[in-house]
Amino acid sequence: MGQKKEKMNIDRIKGVLFDMDGVLFDSMPLHARAWVMAFQHVGMAFSEMDVYRNEGSRGSDTVQYAFRRETGHECSKEEETRIYQYKSRQYESFPEPEPMKGAIDVVRTLKEHGVNMTVVTGSGEKTTIDRLIRLFDGCFEREKLVTAMDVQIGKPHPEPYLKGLEKLGTKREETIVIENAPMGIESGVAAGMFTIGVNTGPLDAKELAAAGANVVLGSMKELNEWLLKEEN
Ligand code: CA
Repeated sequence: MGQKKEKMNIDRIKGVLFDMDGVLFDSMPLHARAWVMAFQHVGMAFSEMDVYRNEGSRGSDTVQYAFRRETGHECSKEEETRIYQYKSRQYESFPEPEPMKGAIDVVRTLKEHGVNMTVVTGSGEKTTIDRLIRLFDGCFEREKLVTAMDVQIGKPHPEPYLKGLEKLGTKREETIVIENAPMGIESGVAAGMFTIGVNTGPLDAKELAAAGANVVLGSMKELNEWLLKEEN
């Protein structure tokens, strides 16, 4: 398991597992708006901060979490699907998200150093996944992605990142996880990998550290600088 003082620099890194929303794409404000609208539609209060606190879990898990909190029990599979589909329709009606500032530079730095990369996301939003393939210099292959459809249990469980590691084919100790959400960080740490938290949203950086991140940074630009620092 990663220790806080453990060192990790670009020469030791052979694989990187990226989270997608809030790391590679500046898409979280859009997801937050879409979720709030979807729950409003069924008369439930769910705030944007609730979305950020649940970030990383699959859409179906977010719906069930909201129901348990509001009513004390889960909703039917049909209701769950209806709400999630409503959310997805709202999301897809918004302008497409831009890559996170600095994210393409990070991917290029890693590519120049021969690092293998893939994405492990709780999302199933097809348009964003298509843009991921198109916009990041061909660094991501569709077959190697882990999306909501590929896992039985979502983040914070280790399964998504373990599946990503398996698809990437690198060793655990040479692979790092890059996340922006506490549940995603918990998943990466539970999968036994060095996990970097990049705080791109409204949460306090302390929440990322409390989730177990080995390093917490403030932006993708800082991550690029961190990767290239020799003393890491
Ligand atoms: Ca995220």
